Formats: sequence, structure tokens, C-alpha cells
Amino acid sequence: MSTTRQTSQRIVYLNGDYVPEPEATVHVSDRGFIYGDAVFDTARTFNGKIFRLQDHVDRLMRSLRYLRIDPGLTAKQIVDISGEVLDRNRHLLGADEDYWVFQRITRGPAFAEPVDGESSATVIVLCIPLPLAVRAPLFRDGIEVVIPTTRRIAPDALSPNAKTNNYLNLIVAGQETEKIARGSWPILLDYRGFLCEGSGSNIFLVRDGMVMTPQEQYVLPGISRKVVIELCGKLDIPCRETDLTHFDMTTADEAFITSTSICMCPVKSFNGELTADTTIPGPITKKLMDAYCEEIGFDYIAQYMAHMPADGSKGGMGL
Ligand code: PLP
Repeated sequence: MSTTRQTSQRIVYLNGDYVPEPEATVHVSDRGFIYGDAVFDTARTFNGKIFRLQDHVDRLMRSLRYLRIDPGLTAKQIVDISGEVLDRNRHLLGADEDYWVFQRITRGPAFAEPVDGESSATVIVLCIPLPLAVRAPLFRDGIEVVIPTTRRIAPDALSPNAKTNNYLNLIVAGQETEKIARGSWPILLDYRGFLCEGSGSNIFLVRDGMVMTPQEQYVLPGISRKVVIELCGKLDIPCRETDLTHFDMTTADEAFITSTSICMCPVKSFNGELTADTTIPGPITKKLMDAYCEEIGFDYIAQYMAHMPADGSKGGMGL
């Protein structure tokens, strides 16, 4: 735990220093900014403790290796910095709130002479409160999924296994789906036309007791996706990673989305068509959501429900 004086501003780690968020500035020619030449990862806290931080940092290191960016730090140092950033900001969390904890690493400034053996990377670690109120209605109503015409970038163009700053593909898809249904979440098809992933989420279908999700080579291997696959194993629920078609989507009994912030959240509809089981959550989704709470030792569903807006508003992404 840090002994530093507590401030009313969030503290950010930037290239070796812990500074107030408004003072954390990067070079105007930073390659992350001008080219999206960067990677990031996003963990979350439950009751103020970071969940599976090592898994997130391991994925970050793989993303860095894929882009051949030298962060100038070890995985252990990034884990320690993430813990320190959280410690320096924990006092700013409101009751029953939690943080996203982001690690962001760019290749550093462009047009600069590289110094042999030295990393020029820009390293940022910061935390931001989760948008619990915006997403709370999704746990009451289920997520409306819309499939955009924009396809997910093919793995042989840019691997979706790496969490890079190139989110334009997902952002354009999200703008398309937001026009179709406000507050909906996009799930893109892959370049072959099979269900793929969303902008920050993985998709699961449930049919005849079988849980199914797209194959890892076409998606970001989500940490929450991995938790669900593990839980299916523990609960003896058959789970398959496979190509999923439009037929699979329209004949699914239940569906749910996984993502660090929402863990698991039920899907209400695909392109306006309700899933066969209209209970939110459906029975297998509920069983897995309960097991998820047990796994993390925290009732994340109750946390979202406690932030439900009083005006009955519809949920969204809050990004
Ligand atoms: N797919 C993409 C493209 C993502 O950006 C994310 C998360 O940020 C996910 C899937 C879900 O991954 P996780 O469960 O680790 O949050």
C-alpha cells in the first residue's frame, strides 16, 4: 500500500512517474496517437481487488510481442505498477463502485532517433470508475445485439488475438448498430460470415444444453470468456468452440456476452428477434452467472442492480 498523500485527483502512472491525471500528457507525435501503434489491456476490480491481473498482463505481453514493442518493463513490474496505481486511487471510489484498470503501451514518439538498447515506449497505467449505472439496465432487460454489415478484420490482416489500439473496425461497426438500435451492442461477423465478437466483448450461444462460442483464432481470447469455459467444465455443462452461423444465432435458446466489466450478461435479442427462452437470464446463463459470482467471491450482478437508474432508462455501452 502506498504511503503517498491522498489527493482528490486520480493518479496515473506515466513512464516511471505517478502524476495527477490532468498532468499525464503524451508527445503530440506519439505513435499510439498518430498510428494506433500501441497495445492495451483492461482488468477490473471487484470490491477494490483486481481480478486475474496476471492473466491480463500475460495477454498484454503477448500483444506487445506481436507488435514487436519493447515496453522496457517486465510483466512483474507491470503487475506491481497496476497494484500501485489502484492503491493510489482506491480512496476516490464511491460506495459499491469499482474500477477499470488500464495498461496502455505505445511504441513512443515518431520521428525520434531510437537509442540502442533503450525502450522508447510510452507506458501508461490508469484507472477509471466502471459505468455501472449505464450498464445496470442490461442485467434487467438483457442486451440487444445487432449484427452490423461491417465485418471483423481478418486474422491474416491483423490478429484479433492481440489487443491493439486499432479499434476503428469495432468503432465503425458500433456507430452502424447504434443508428439501427440505440443502446444495442454490436457483434460482428468474421470475414467468412460466422459470428465473431463485439467491441470489447465475446459472444456465447446456448442450445439444447450446449454452450457454444466462436473459435479463439478469430477473436480476442477474453479473460471472462476463459472464466466461462472453465466454469462450464466445473459444472459439467458441455461447451464447444466452433464456427457459429446465422442459423445457430436464430435457433439459440439463450445467449450471453462476456467482457471484463460486465463479466457475463444475458442477450435479449439478435437484430430485434428475441432468443427462444425469453427469461432474463435464461436457466443455463443464470447457472453460469451464479458460478461466476462464486468464482470471483463477489456478487457483481447485485452491484449492477444497486446502480439501476431510477428513471427506467434503457442500458447502453457507456463508452
Ligand atoms: N473482444 C474484444 C475485441 C475486446 O476488446 C474484449 C475486451 O476488451 C473482449 C473481446 C473481451 O475480453 P475480456 O473478457 O478480457 O474483457
